[in-house]
Amino acid sequence: MSLVDSHCHIDGDAFDADRDEVVQRAKGAGVAAMLNIGTGDPHSDDFRKAVAVAERYENVFASVGVHPHDAKLYDDAAEEHLLELARSSKVIAWGEIGLDFYYDHSPRDVQIEVFRRQIRTARRLELPIIIHSRDADDETIAILLEECSRKTENGKLKAENDGFRGGIMHCFGGTAAMATELMKLGFLISFAGNVTFKKADNLRDAARVVPLDKLLVETDCPFLTPIPLRGKRNEPAYVEHTARFLAEFYGVEFELLADRTTRNFLDFFRLELTAETQRQREV
Ligand SMILES: [Zn+2]
Ligand SMILES: [Zn+2]
Repeated sequence: MSLVDSHCHIDGDAFDADRDEVVQRAKGAGVAAMLNIGTGDPHSDDFRKAVAVAERYENVFASVGVHPHDAKLYDDAAEEHLLELARSSKVIAWGEIGLDFYYDHSPRDVQIEVFRRQIRTARRLELPIIIHSRDADDETIAILLEECSRKTENGKLKAENDGFRGGIMHCFGGTAAMATELMKLGFLISFAGNVTFKKADNLRDAARVVPLDKLLVETDCPFLTPIPLRGKRNEPAYVEHTARFLAEFYGVEFELLADRTTRNFLDFFRLELTAETQRQREV
């Protein structure tokens, strides 16, 4: 049995004191791979740290890309910096990018412009994209349809081949209709610990339309700790609770769901894991 945490933030300050133990605990819980999502100010060392953490541990990967909160900080110099970091073989995706109209930390028109720009950059690099969408699902889908797909002659939607490698809708919080649209565009749907929360019937309604071969699980740690650990700091080992919850929800064995979501992740990124026995390297 193995699991993958498709979206974590273990480079953050919350893990400075015990990062080695956190990674070891994850491995002990069967988490075979983690995707550490870089966030923060693209003019600082935040993203360098995110990539360094991935380079330090076996089977920990990284993504770079400016979060919609920080869209107002995106400019040519920021992009240059991220492009340089993306040369690391450990960087396998661009993101998290998207729209957040709940917090509105950056003006909406800037979020939209920077979202489009980063989709194009990711396509140029042939990197999959990691999408964050909050209170902006219609706008997010509209932009993805425009930027990542084309209509075929018979009017059907086709994911654009020109560099577009699909993506992951992280911490899915949308409707079943949105999940369906995204899957048509070549996206995987990733659920975080909030799918286990009592009041999350809307998330579970959406989960019903996601087949096992499009499904991922994530922690988004240090936030969104799944039940029964809600209230504690979240960490990659706890992805097991979200996977167990979803297995029960779908009526399948936990081991099956764990292995399928792991396979989805590895196939999507065309990854092979290195031997677990290798020692951590120094940064
Ligand atoms: Zn996010
Ligand atoms: Zn995140």
